[in-house]
Amino acid sequence: MKKYISLAVLIIFMVFLIISCKQIDQETKKPDYVIVIHGGAGNASNQDINKEEQQEYKEKLSEALTIGENILKEGGTSIEAIEKTINYLEDCPMFNAGKGAVFTHDGKNELDASIMNGADLNAGAVASVGDIKNPISAAIKVMNNSEHVLLSGHGASEFAKEQNIEIVDSSYFFTEKRWESLQHVLKSKKHGTVGCVVLDKYGNLAAGTSTGGRTNKKYGRIGDSPIIGAGTYANNNTCAISATGHGEYFIRYAVAHDISALMEYKDMSLAEASELVINKKLVEAGGLGGIIGVDKNGNIATTFNTNMMFRAYAKSTGERKIAIFK
Ligand code: ASP
Repeated sequence: MKKYISLAVLIIFMVFLIISCKQIDQETKKPDYVIVIHGGAGNASNQDINKEEQQEYKEKLSEALTIGENILKEGGTSIEAIEKTINYLEDCPMFNAGKGAVFTHDGKNELDASIMNGADLNAGAVASVGDIKNPISAAIKVMNNSEHVLLSGHGASEFAKEQNIEIVDSSYFFTEKRWESLQHVLKSKKHGTVGCVVLDKYGNLAAGTSTGGRTNKKYGRIGDSPIIGAGTYANNNTCAISATGHGEYFIRYAVAHDISALMEYKDMSLAEASELVINKKLVEAGGLGGIIGVDKNGNIATTFNTNMMFRAYAKSTGERKIAIFK
């Protein structure tokens, strides 16, 4: 009898051991792929964006996320996933990128975008362009098909044309909502820059950001979004970052690179480094905004010092979340 009891105890113990090992394995297992997106950060409150609008933003973020997820699931690269995901957000007038770009002080649209590949630190960007339908696609062409990193204005448009990137009349970027927000500029608390960071099945990290900049900006003003190391950064040894917020601060504090450097040289985790840069350094300086990030092990960060940041992420493990407020 005793024999049977000890055998039963042993079996229960073994089963328990197997279950807990499986759980630990699931928790620590690196996901095959991860995608994180943002649609801008700002100080709008829960009342400023009504429930219907919140729902609509969440639906758009979810659709964008699904585009990237499907590409990654089928073995697409991080750059491919970023391009198509951001293209969708650029075509959606609700975000301040592509179609929905904000107006400069003199009523024009000047768009910025950048991309960086963590595998080889190659990067491409366009700044102050007014006729490229999807600036992120032009940035990818600069990265892949030119010897430069950043092309601006007329030169960027000429290059995009040569690369068969779709050119549109500047009137394409006219949206009533952005025009009104220029008219009531200081009332508008919403932002809407878009960004995407990815870890793909091949272990490669990449980051991309696309924006219309800041409402009422001075002609020729370039923000952090097309500046590698400020608004966008990716390095396979550390992380991929896309930022949104008051660009001048993100440039001065080299935010995206600073997070990567803290991980590389100070051995910080992505969460610790993002927290230090966004919620300490930037807060002390008065710089509003946030970042999305993913590290080489698939850990993510969505860190912001504003009331809200449109954000969403998905992992190959089935984990998926879409959120606006804290
Ligand atoms: N960072 C962008 C810029 O300063 C704007 C934003 O993300 O809202 O151009």
